[in-house]
Amino acid sequence: MLEIIPFVLGPVQTNAYLIADSDTGAAVVIDPAWDGDIIVKEAERRGWRIGSIWLTHAHFDHLAGAAQVADLSSPPPPVALHPDDYPLWRAQGGAPLFGMRIDPGPEPTIDLKHGQILHLGAYDFEVRHTPGHTPGHVIFYCATVGVVFCGDVIFGGSIGRTDLPGGSYESLMHSIDSFILTLPDATRLLSGHGPETTVGEERLENPFLT
Ligand SMILES: [Zn+2]
Ligand SMILES: [Zn+2]
Repeated sequence: MLEIIPFVLGPVQTNAYLIADSDTGAAVVIDPAWDGDIIVKEAERRGWRIGSIWLTHAHFDHLAGAAQVADLSSPPPPVALHPDDYPLWRAQGGAPLFGMRIDPGPEPTIDLKHGQILHLGAYDFEVRHTPGHTPGHVIFYCATVGVVFCGDVIFGGSIGRTDLPGGSYESLMHSIDSFILTLPDATRLLSGHGPETTVGEERLENPFLT
């Protein structure tokens, strides 16, 4: 079974997700937002092994916990990121723009590509490149479970901001039209902020999409 443990962490209430194939104990962290120790402790409590860290994008509030996750895990899990977000990663995810400093953790060593398939135990996740909020933003889609981890592309009743460096409103809308709204209505959307929603709900109710 695919188990999904959400956490709300850090100064801007970012959703981090610890997910696992509970039959094998293989786990990954999607967007270790902050307080990596809390995430690692939860994995240990469940007997899960964190095999990698998948980043939807390189904003600081989605990766500030990566250093701690790596420090507390042996071996430290490799970090996966789309190369178009490496400049942002190297700039501490934009933290200095908000008057903060963070340790971005281990350098990403897995280059994410559109259409790539990531494996977690028995589950496959398709990487979809969805630029607009940042140039290298991706989402992780598991078709068998009907769930997508969509970072800051779309939220319940809202869409990602495009006013930060590298943002593009046109690209964001194209990403949403091409790679979110083409999914089945029942697909669960687990965003980087706020509550869970579905593709169908957003198709009908999201004021930014009409
Ligand atoms: Zn962001
Ligand atoms: Zn965010």
